[in-house]
Amino acid sequence: MTNKFCDLHIHTTRSDGTLSPAEVVRAAKNAGIVCLAMTDHDTVSGIDEAIQEGMSLGVEVIPGVEISVEHAPGIMHILGYFIDWKKPGFSETLSKLQSDRRERNQKIVERLTNLGMPVAIEELVADLEENQISRLHFARLLIRKGFVKTREEAFEKFLGKGKPAYVPRAHLSVRDAINFIRSAGGLASLAHPGYVGFPVGSEEFLQLMHRLKSDGLSGLEVYSSAHDGRTAQRLLELAGHFGFLPTGGSDFHGDNKNIPLGYCGRGFAVPYEWVAQMKNTISGEKKSPRS
Ligand code: AMP
Ligand code: MN
Ligand code: MN
Ligand code: MN
Repeated sequence: MTNKFCDLHIHTTRSDGTLSPAEVVRAAKNAGIVCLAMTDHDTVSGIDEAIQEGMSLGVEVIPGVEISVEHAPGIMHILGYFIDWKKPGFSETLSKLQSDRRERNQKIVERLTNLGMPVAIEELVADLEENQISRLHFARLLIRKGFVKTREEAFEKFLGKGKPAYVPRAHLSVRDAINFIRSAGGLASLAHPGYVGFPVGSEEFLQLMHRLKSDGLSGLEVYSSAHDGRTAQRLLELAGHFGFLPTGGSDFHGDNKNIPLGYCGRGFAVPYEWVAQMKNTISGEKKSPRS
């Protein structure tokens, strides 16, 4: 048994979190978390800063990323862990996702303005160069400008799928996202499987797990603030059944969502053993490379 706990799913100001990479690491230190994975949406720009702060405070920082992929009927996000984020070519794929985001965001600005809610890209964040702007930033801005009262209202009325300011964004296929992570030496894990749109454990869900396994997925995020205890237990069993590594994390976004750092559901915490298993898997793969 261990009492060393981890949080393998967090966002910083480099995407839609509100703490900088160094601030998140300091918050982790204060919360007694020994290992953090940086998993900003579509960017690795916060990793160096987090690792540096982690080294000075004694918090282990795993380089990671979170990528949205094509999937119906729900949402599917793939987490990459232990990626070689400086590998030549790696940033090009992310740059493409980032420029798609910028184009989409400009269209959201136009839609909101046409709906009588004038907003400008410059109002969304302080540093447009560094940040990946998501719909969560738009929701915050609509609240700040008094157009809506809550985040939920912003998504329900305007920003959610099918609503008048919703603009779809280009996504990688799940296979391309997994290959992208694996080609950078990383492990791919399915984020918050409870959101894929099929009940966890249903026939459709099991078929999806088979497909993801053959696509090269390595892990399943079993502990998450998105899951209740029963779902987490069921996912842990399914991870064992399919041969997926268990992963877990809070999906911390600072003040943008009401999720405490390290929180994976009441009574659940991600043990360091899961990180050790990931490392063993990676070193095993290096010794006997995949064909
Ligand atoms: P994007 O990647 O730009 O499409 O934005 C996705 C972000 O918006 C993620 O952080 C989601 O958690 C957040 N989000 C999506 N739908 C909702 C919703 N209905 N309520 C609150 N946040 C949402
Ligand atoms: Mn987010
Ligand atoms: Mn996600
Ligand atoms: Mn996330």
